Order: sequence, then C-alpha cells, then structure tokens
Amino acid sequence: MNTNLNGQVAVITGAGRGIGRAIAIELARAGADIACVSRTEANARAAAAEIIALGRRAIACALDVANAKEVESAAQRILAELGRADILVNNAGVTRDGLLMRMSDEDWDVVMRTNLDGAFYFTRALCRSFIKQRSGRIINISSVIGLIGNGGQANYAASKAALIGLTRSTARELASRNVTCNAIAPGFITTDMTSKLNEALQQKVLDQIPLGRFGAPEDIAGMALFLAAPSGAYITGQVLTVDGGMVM
Ligand code: NDP
Repeated sequence: MNTNLNGQVAVITGAGRGIGRAIAIELARAGADIACVSRTEANARAAAAEIIALGRRAIACALDVANAKEVESAAQRILAELGRADILVNNAGVTRDGLLMRMSDEDWDVVMRTNLDGAFYFTRALCRSFIKQRSGRIINISSVIGLIGNGGQANYAASKAALIGLTRSTARELASRNVTCNAIAPGFITTDMTSKLNEALQQKVLDQIPLGRFGAPEDIAGMALFLAAPSGAYITGQVLTVDGGMVM
C-alpha cells in the first residue's frame, strides 16, 4: 500500500490539539510538510514545532476558521511560504451542547460557523490551486452524530450532517479535475472535546461500542493518511465511519 506523501503539503485545521494534531503528525511522518491551523496561537506554534522536529517544514497559522477573510489570507500565505497545497483536512470543530428548546442563537451560530462555514471557506480558498495542478485531496472530519443525531446536540448534528452534503457536492464538482473529497465520521475519540463529558455518560457510550473501547486520535489519523495518500486515489464522495462498530 502506498502511503508516501513526500513533497506534498497538507493544510490541517484544528491541528493544535486532539484529532487534528494526530493527523498532522501522521501525515508529516509519511513525508508531508504541514500548515498547522488552530485558533490559539500557542497551540498552532507547538504543533508546528513538533512537525519541524520530525524533519519536515511547517508553519503555524492562528486564526478563526469562521472568518472568511482570515482564511483567505492564510491560504495565500500557505501557498507563498510552502509553495503549494495538496491536501486539506477540515478538522476544526466545537460543541455547544444543550436542549433544542433552550438553545441560544449564539450556541447554534458558533457551532455552524466553525464546523460548517469554516470547512466551506478553506475548501473555497484552496480549490483553485487544486484545480490548477489537477490534483488535490479534501478530507472533512464529520461525526457519527451527523449520521444518527443526538439529543442535546441539534446544532452539532446539523453541522456535521451538512458537512456530508458539502463533501458529496465538492466530490462531484471537482472529480473531473482529479480532486477527491471524503468525510471521516469518527465515533467517540478521547480528546479534550470528550473528556468534559461526565463519567456516567462516557460509560453509556462505551456500552454501545462493540470493540469495547473509546477511539484514540491516532485511529482517525490512520484513516486520514489512507485517504490523503496514493492509497486513497480512487475513493471520493464517501463517508468513512471510524467508530469501533458503534454505527452499523
Ligand atoms: P478538540 O476540542 O480536542 O480540538 C479542537 C481543535 O479545533 C483545536 O485545535 C481548536 O483550536 C480548533 N478550533 C476550534 N474552533 C476553531 C476555530 N474557530 N478556528 C480555528 N480552529 C478552531 O477536538 P477533537 O480533536 O476532539 O475534534 C476534532 C474534530 O473531530 C472536530 O471537528 C470534532 O467535531 C470531530 N469529532 C470529534 C469526536 C470526538 O469524539 N473527539 C467525534 C467525532 C467527531 P485551539 O486548540 O487553538 O483552541
């Protein structure tokens, strides 16, 4: 299986922590240079330093993915400083859980703007370059919650389901230019995002996972590498569920 990414440049949003950081490290180990996008400057810088320590080039971009102007200028900077872009992983995401009838406009908006609009902005900003070079890989990090829904997560489920619609439309629109677009739907992965859930809820989720354990960020990173590398060349418009068998 060919998972060599030598000479390629990957742009990863939410690379400062959790799943995004694990994807950045996995792709760098496979040979890619990395643009580490994160909201907090210190996190973006720490991730970039880790990539450089692996012997690759890396730049840190601290920005809010929900800000179209910031995304556009970061894309220009990445193309100027790293010379090209081959892979985009739209991973930045947030939760603002609450019951639908009490959900504030702000909690709805922040989740939709970060999880969905952010992916749209980065895809729009980099797809011209992918089209021009007749190659590109776009990977959107959705969620099993986007497939099955979840009480208390109407905003999050809507954003992650919409990301699947964006994925399939992008895949159809760009396929003739040899650009693929797929979504990964992780199950329950141990990160800062899930560690804030109480123990009783974590046990309830664990009982629904046939493989009997929560996922690690590296479980998602392996799938991202497979899709980003030559191994994934003939896969587009798909949603790959990586969840220990939770949804089947
Ligand atoms: P974390 O909360 O651990 O990390 C989120 C990352 O996204 C951070 O690097 C954060 O930046 C970045 N981020 C958040 N908002 C913005 C923003 N507005 N602009 C730029 N960067 C932003 O989350 P996970 O690693 O757990 O999740 C990563 C993705 O995977 C998310 O899209 C999530 O929905 C999805 N997912 C996670 C699952 C899980 O069980 N953990 C399950 C299914 C899907 P910073 O560090 O700088 O604050």
